[in-house]
Amino acid sequence: MSDVDRSLSMRESLLQLAAILGKYWPRYLVGVLALSLCNVGQLTIPWIIGQFIDSLRQGRLAAPDIARTAGLVLAAAVGIAIFRFVWRIFVFGTARRIERDLRERLFSHFQSLSASFYHRKKVGDLMAHATNDLNAIRALAGEGVMAGWDATALGIGTLAVMAIAIDWRLTLAAFLPLPLLAFIQFRLGGQVHDRYKRVQAAFSALSDRVQENVSGARVIKAFAQEDAEKKRFAVSNEAYYGNFVSLTRAQSLFEPLVGLLDGVGTLVCIAYGGLLVLQGDITLGQFVAFTSYLHMLVWPMTGLGRTINMAQRASASMSRLQALFDEVPEIRALPDSVAPASWQGALSIRNLTFRYAPHLPPALEDVTLEVRPGETLGIVGRTGSGKSTLASLLTRAFNPPDETVFLDGICVNRLDPGALRQAIGMVPQDAFLFSTSIRENIAFVSGKRDMEPDSSTVEDAVLRASRMAQLDGEIQELPHGYETMLGERGITLSGGQRQRVSIARALLKDAPILVLDDCLSAVDTRTEARILETLLPVMHDRTSLLISHRVSALQHADLIIVLERGRIVERGKHADLLALGGEYRSLWELQQLEATLEEATGAEREIAVAAWEEGTAR
Ligand code: ATP
Ligand code: MG
Repeated sequence: MSDVDRSLSMRESLLQLAAILGKYWPRYLVGVLALSLCNVGQLTIPWIIGQFIDSLRQGRLAAPDIARTAGLVLAAAVGIAIFRFVWRIFVFGTARRIERDLRERLFSHFQSLSASFYHRKKVGDLMAHATNDLNAIRALAGEGVMAGWDATALGIGTLAVMAIAIDWRLTLAAFLPLPLLAFIQFRLGGQVHDRYKRVQAAFSALSDRVQENVSGARVIKAFAQEDAEKKRFAVSNEAYYGNFVSLTRAQSLFEPLVGLLDGVGTLVCIAYGGLLVLQGDITLGQFVAFTSYLHMLVWPMTGLGRTINMAQRASASMSRLQALFDEVPEIRALPDSVAPASWQGALSIRNLTFRYAPHLPPALEDVTLEVRPGETLGIVGRTGSGKSTLASLLTRAFNPPDETVFLDGICVNRLDPGALRQAIGMVPQDAFLFSTSIRENIAFVSGKRDMEPDSSTVEDAVLRASRMAQLDGEIQELPHGYETMLGERGITLSGGQRQRVSIARALLKDAPILVLDDCLSAVDTRTEARILETLLPVMHDRTSLLISHRVSALQHADLIIVLERGRIVERGKHADLLALGGEYRSLWELQQLEATLEEATGAEREIAVAAWEEGTAR
């Protein structure tokens, strides 16, 4: 499959994993020590009982001996319990700690990445990284380490007993096929790694489907697309399943192979061991003991195999995660970034041509304009004409070409992103609200969110901002006022209310530059007029960009530009543009008609439409 990401080879990602786990070595040391002591404790109990039985048989047992034995067994049992507790805390606990630390690193990395990253990546995919991939690493860090250590220690111990206490030649002979097994495991390991990567990729796709279906449930239902979606989901689900089956196939080969090795070993043991017994090199008892030791080695071998398997999966996940960690924030502070202490608010755009991707047509073409401090720029244009693009270049949601967009004479690409965003209060076109209270949503900026509800300055600011956004009245009517919870945990606001919460949020920020991206599209013309009226003084104090597809909102702007397919086709003040009789004028007339229709009766409507038709025909 071509989409398997090979950015990090298996070896590299294994090394990386080793480095991550290695950082926690003191904890692991305590863990495996306790684990070993626990094993020793388990081995001593049969030994104590054996001794006891021997004494019993020989009839030299006194009452104190019984008490002593009972005490020893109890001590061993308590020791086992304590060491088991300790190793579980130190091995499994460390695994959780590693998972937590990695998740935290991933999350802060997510926070640092630019908007363009989120345009490229899907939510479900990112969620899959934050869950499944971290799980795979945790499995290795916990069970993997435990099984690996246990199997190694037990395996080496058993082998040593076999070689030293019985016969080293027989031991060697019984394990002749071992290198073959190791080789096969090595080959399978690569497959497990690749297939697990595919499984995780399929899981990402599956998560995407689920996420989109849940978020888009209303649209899907409205268009009665449930069956089509079920089919599409079934395809993703089947792909995930298929990949998993193929992974399981690669994984499942190992354990039967261990069984086979055990069989071959027994065969060698009987043939060669029998010979050794006949020659008198080993006793019959040793021969019997050897065969049972051989069986005892099955667990260490499977245990090791499992650990290797987990390591392959974890390395696949690690290389997926590393691909994310390698994403460099496109927009970041550079050593020579400037962070002005105060802003005038002069905006200037010179010969700006911008494409989202090299193969796409320009979203903006040869845009040049100048906004002096305190002025208001109105931007109007049909849908897709590039209005939001212009706003997102100003805030550097995307990087404009160098030396095209300037704030106070400094190219925005040279501005410190943090300082730039501090300077701009932005109301994006699609207002996003968090699942918290309305108050917290408005007081979102500059850490004011976490302040106590009774912190009076914040309270005042929230109130003032929401009054300006013409929102206060509606909020007061809600059962819990500003403390009303939104989203999953509470009520859902209407489109127009959401937009106004978003406006209030930006107003509270009180930044020297205000950008309103079509933020009144969902309110009726009257509310729009009221909001604009209260906003006028605010906009007087600062440089503002007012984007709207409605001409009526822009009448007071100092400069209005009309965008068409990324180009400025008209510019001037409201009156000039009306007089020009071009695109602006026709938009104006159309929207006047709409406004009339909104309020008119049947007969009035017909007259208005007829008048408009006549006007356009002219
Ligand atoms: P609307 O009034 O509908 O909000 P707009 O004027 O804000 O429209 P933009 O969002 O700026 O329009 O889009 C301008 C063009 O750029 C459109 O053709 C759009 O398809 C394209 N575009 C917008 N965002 C992206 C993106 N992230 N990647 C690629 N193309 C994009
Ligand atoms: Mg837009």
